[in-house]
Amino acid sequence: MRYRQLAVGILMTVATGYVSPLLEQVQAQLINDINNNNNAFNLSSALRLNSIRPTTNGLMLSVNANPQIRIQRENNPDRLIVDLQNTSLVQELHQATVPMNRLGIKQVRVAQYSPAIARLVFDLDSSNPNSNAAWQSQYIAATKTLLLTPSNQTAQAIPINPSLPLPRPISSPRPIFSTPTVIERLSFSSTGQLVITANQPVNYQTSFDSASGTYSLIVANAKISATLQRPSLAANSPIERIRLSQVGNSVEIGIKTTAGWQVRETQRMTNQQIQLQISLNSVSPNNQTPLPNSNPVIQNPQNIGDRRRGVIFVDAGHGGRDPGAIANGIQEKDVVLQMSLKLGQALQGLGYTVYYTRTNDVEFDLEPRVALAQRVNADVFVSIHANSLDSRNSSVNGVETFHARNSTVGRELASYVQSQIISATGANNRGVKAAGFYLVTQTSMPAILVETGFVTSPTEASNLSNPNYQKQMADAIARGIDQFMRVRGR
Ligand code: ZN
Repeated sequence: MRYRQLAVGILMTVATGYVSPLLEQVQAQLINDINNNNNAFNLSSALRLNSIRPTTNGLMLSVNANPQIRIQRENNPDRLIVDLQNTSLVQELHQATVPMNRLGIKQVRVAQYSPAIARLVFDLDSSNPNSNAAWQSQYIAATKTLLLTPSNQTAQAIPINPSLPLPRPISSPRPIFSTPTVIERLSFSSTGQLVITANQPVNYQTSFDSASGTYSLIVANAKISATLQRPSLAANSPIERIRLSQVGNSVEIGIKTTAGWQVRETQRMTNQQIQLQISLNSVSPNNQTPLPNSNPVIQNPQNIGDRRRGVIFVDAGHGGRDPGAIANGIQEKDVVLQMSLKLGQALQGLGYTVYYTRTNDVEFDLEPRVALAQRVNADVFVSIHANSLDSRNSSVNGVETFHARNSTVGRELASYVQSQIISATGANNRGVKAAGFYLVTQTSMPAILVETGFVTSPTEASNLSNPNYQKQMADAIARGIDQFMRVRGR
């Protein structure tokens, strides 16, 4: 993951409504400028999103190469999430909002979702029929332009699989299967998603009834298998009930969650399956719903320490289908999980109450990570990551700790943690840095993101996967946090 701050700020003007051919030239110049200005900082081969511009047909993105893209649809509120993998945003685009008001989109919000993922959130206008369109991407190498356009397809969740050729707009309706789709199995995936499996491609619509807290899927032209398999739900599962009923020719699947949890559609791996993520709601300050103690989907916060000593929220980066940085046989999501668990233990040993985003290999969006920290009124938020560069830079190594720009307490916390890490591990000191990462800017408590080392450095990769080094790192971070808490009079 890398985030480089440009020395020269380049103002990006978003042309809403019309597109001048002259802008192409301006655009090209902009790319040039950014590339030139960035040379001094360009340690990495990470892709960069330089600008976003609405056009009459969609969105035009300026990128320095073709990124892998993941598109997913979410409901309540209706949004389309477009993730550019291994891509960082230029500074101007951090937390930017691009007004659209067309093509079924109200606006597009931009954020560095994780150090490795640039995320565009299309806030959809549900009253506009165009908001149901599936979106597709097309990369034009000559101009380093990525076009995002709605296809003629209307569907709930049609992901664009980056490994497949780009989908062509389909003008004819999707095939209707004359024989009913049979719902065969409900199960939890290894990453904690609820998976509904049918015997053939399944078309469905979703809705949410907030009064009963029930998320419903209506599968048209379907029936329930006589030998339906379904998981048993633990008493403390975030899913209270799953009910399947035959309503005419359709099957209705109602999923009722316990308070504070929500169901979301995620990317479909095959069209015979529906995949649902169960995650924490964004939380209103008055919501005092207790967190569940444990459940089969998301491993839970552990609340062992003395709350008066302080509450620390430990966020292991990435997880599930998002491995983070990969190199030297190491996946970031694995090493940061191990370090996060060790960090939690160390903090508990110092008397703190510790909450985790995840204690196993599950996927989490950014929003619930922040929402959970807010909800438990954490005093400190610490997100654990590992860095990467391309193979030409395998000698680059070291530790850096990020805090939100303009956050004095964040910088103070980062300084304590960084210096504890450096003195304990002897790692190369890359310093304390300000950044616009969502996690550190959207949390109200002092928040840091620790880049514990480079998986692309063979030496550091071997350290990061070594349990003793992980413990050294975790203990040092815990000491830095403890120092910070003590100085602040805890
Ligand atoms: Zn990361």
